[in-house]
Amino acid sequence: VRDLAAITGDQLDLLRRADALEDDHRAGAELAAAIRGGEIVPWYQPMLDLATGRVIGVEALARRRMPSGAVVGPQTFIPLAERTDQIVDLDLAVIRRALTDLAVLQEGYPGLRMSLNLSGRQLDRRDWAEQVLALTRAAGVAPETVELELTETARPADPASGAATMQWVRDQGFEIWFDDFGTGWSALQDLMQLPVDGIKLDRSFADELGSHADDAIIRALIAAARELGLQVTIEGIETAEQAELARALGCDHAQGYLWSPAVPVEDLVAMLASTVDGRLPSSATRD
Ligand code: C2E
Ligand code: MG
Ligand code: MG
Ligand code: MG
Repeated sequence: VRDLAAITGDQLDLLRRADALEDDHRAGAELAAAIRGGEIVPWYQPMLDLATGRVIGVEALARRRMPSGAVVGPQTFIPLAERTDQIVDLDLAVIRRALTDLAVLQEGYPGLRMSLNLSGRQLDRRDWAEQVLALTRAAGVAPETVELELTETARPADPASGAATMQWVRDQGFEIWFDDFGTGWSALQDLMQLPVDGIKLDRSFADELGSHADDAIIRALIAAARELGLQVTIEGIETAEQAELARALGCDHAQGYLWSPAVPVEDLVAMLASTVDGRLPSSATRD
């Protein structure tokens, strides 16, 4: 029996960290099996053009289908995947499936766009970018219809070499977007240093739409994006009022529960089939 009183704070800290590492190790092995077993699948949330209310594409969002049938979101496995160096494998598994789905969807909806999430500084590595291109070609999808979303932590550590890889990716036809834009410290610096096609304003902005200070910031970010020739998407739109405010402030595209959460591909197919002139029946942005 350990004499607890004799254990110092530092020792306790070490014990806790060893415990956490062991937990990660176990859960990481379990996650690896889930990735290999095809339990990680993309669900899709529609992206809309705010001016017309038409669906222009979908964002692929990772979900884990547990053997029990329960479906869990990325917050339960993406951080673990990052800590255990499996994020590239996980992303590639999602991307492979998403592009296969996109090829089928584009048969009915030519030009439908898809956006894919990356984390873990993958664009620091040219070979990784080449794998994404190979998967895109294998699926028979035009890179021009694919957008790669980078969160702040996924942005290159070394802007000079990162910018070169990002430009190479764009030269292949892909678009690159900054995700969760406006939440991090380096957002504006990234805009100055890295080549991108658009910014996705973080969901927290949608919550604050209509408040004077936040509208001023959003207007300024949109003005900066315009000067740089970038497009602007806002995510997390939940009410018709937010959609109208976002449109009035000049956002080009939007996503949010107002239109739909992420859904399995079968539900997406039904949703797209229900559109009238490209608009969802529930669409509140226009007529
Ligand atoms: P994100 O890329 O910024 O995705 C937006 C998140 O907001 C999604 O959560 C989406 O379901 C949720 N959302 C969309 N509309 C609304 C709304 O109107 N209200 C609210 N409250 N939430 C809304 P989700 O699917 O849980 O994804 C969380 C994050 O996990 C994503 O944020 C993304 O950073 C990451 N992620 C998801 N899939 C992948 C993936 O395949 N690879 C990587 N590396 N990261 C992923
Ligand atoms: Mg995203
Ligand atoms: Mg997003
Ligand atoms: Mg986001």
